[in-house]
Amino acid sequence: MPSDLSRRDLLRAVAAASAVPWMRSTELLIRNGRVVNADGIVDADVRIIGERIAEIGRALTPGPLARVIDARGLLLMPGGVDPHTHLHGGFADDLASGSMAALAGGITTVGTFSFPAREESLSAAIDRTEELVRRDAIADVILHSAFWPLSAERIAAIPTLAARGQPSVKYYMMRPDFAAQMDLVVRALEVARDAGVVTMLHCEDAALLGAAVRRLTAAGRTGLEHYPESRPVIAEVVATQQAAALAEDTRAPIYLVHMSSARALEACRGARAAGLPIFLETRPLFIHLDESRLRGPDHRLYVGQPPLRPRPDVEAMFRGLIDGSVDVLATDHAPWTREQKLDPALSIARVRPGASDLQFMLPMYFSEGVGQRGLSLERFVATSSTNAARIFGLYPQKGAIRVGSDADIAIWDPQRRALVRTADDHSRSDYSPYEGWTVTGWPTTVIRRGEVVVESGRLVGQAGSGQLASRQPRL
Ligand SMILES: [Zn+2]
Repeated sequence: MPSDLSRRDLLRAVAAASAVPWMRSTELLIRNGRVVNADGIVDADVRIIGERIAEIGRALTPGPLARVIDARGLLLMPGGVDPHTHLHGGFADDLASGSMAALAGGITTVGTFSFPAREESLSAAIDRTEELVRRDAIADVILHSAFWPLSAERIAAIPTLAARGQPSVKYYMMRPDFAAQMDLVVRALEVARDAGVVTMLHCEDAALLGAAVRRLTAAGRTGLEHYPESRPVIAEVVATQQAAALAEDTRAPIYLVHMSSARALEACRGARAAGLPIFLETRPLFIHLDESRLRGPDHRLYVGQPPLRPRPDVEAMFRGLIDGSVDVLATDHAPWTREQKLDPALSIARVRPGASDLQFMLPMYFSEGVGQRGLSLERFVATSSTNAARIFGLYPQKGAIRVGSDADIAIWDPQRRALVRTADDHSRSDYSPYEGWTVTGWPTTVIRRGEVVVESGRLVGQAGSGQLASRQPRL
């Protein structure tokens, strides 16, 4: 009989549904928000089922068990994707405290590094680091393999990173033997290109850095007050020119981390205009602070690699984010304590580079960029989420608010005024380079894969709920 049949079908459907996780899981309906993507803005409701975005539309009706968030007057933006952070291996943060700082500031995915030991395979090092992710992470995580020196065996293993879902490597041009390994670098780039693996480069030329330190040391000027002279802009320019040449020669995708100067930016223009896959990142220190901080009383707190630059470079980097010549703003979050940074044993030859930035990067960028400099909301999303997701093989799973994507959403109150205070920072670094800065605009609710992890500014996500996000090779 038809009625029996339909009842049986219904029972079967319910049984099947309870075996499918997303059908058991919760519905979250965000109403009346303004949805901002890199390619446009729309006023809409967003329905989240389980970990994914299920529907975007007007006047959506909540299901019977749905939780409803009213986002009237608020912006819904894709959770930030910050591909460059240091969250293990001797820094003040681990993946738990780093995740908390990231999420509190609207970042839902962080990239950090996997460091294979000498005899360890690249994949085994990822397994080992994934254990830390499973235990500590709240944000989702991607891993870049950072290994050196190069060898035939290491190069042959680069394609395994694509198979492992983590297709990126990082090399430091500031290593004294980088130039001596150049033939292997070219080979590694070719192998990476063919496997769809992105190569990240730290662009400072080792020989010129060495020369600067040698001259300063001969003059007895080894204190950190001489730090800017120890890492001259020309060292960044030469290395960036070489990186652009490597991109032209090999056509491998190359991502330049933490670019700091107008001249380095200029060195990439030709390669980018030619359509080569060379991608540029800058970081908050380089768009908010200039080298005068390295001459002030707390100069040691601001030491990073490369160093803070003169004001025209700061303007050039911010302009680059706005006009599209820089792709990504990433923190290079490298948290130390004040005591570690002020250590009197440090000198131009021995530094602890970097600073904490995860929690305040996006509110400061929003405030200074969207609020003060005419950065469009779409461009804000592109440079803080979508571009990094695309470059590192996460798009469209991450980096966009669209049906089928992970429900990684930061709900921003664009009017909310707040003070940058170290006391509010979840990072274990005990100072912020931006202490006392006033910002307008703040992410008040943050959702990571459908789970509300920051609620009314309060962190509620649990350590271990973050995942290693699997990525597509760049082919
Ligand atoms: Zn770094």
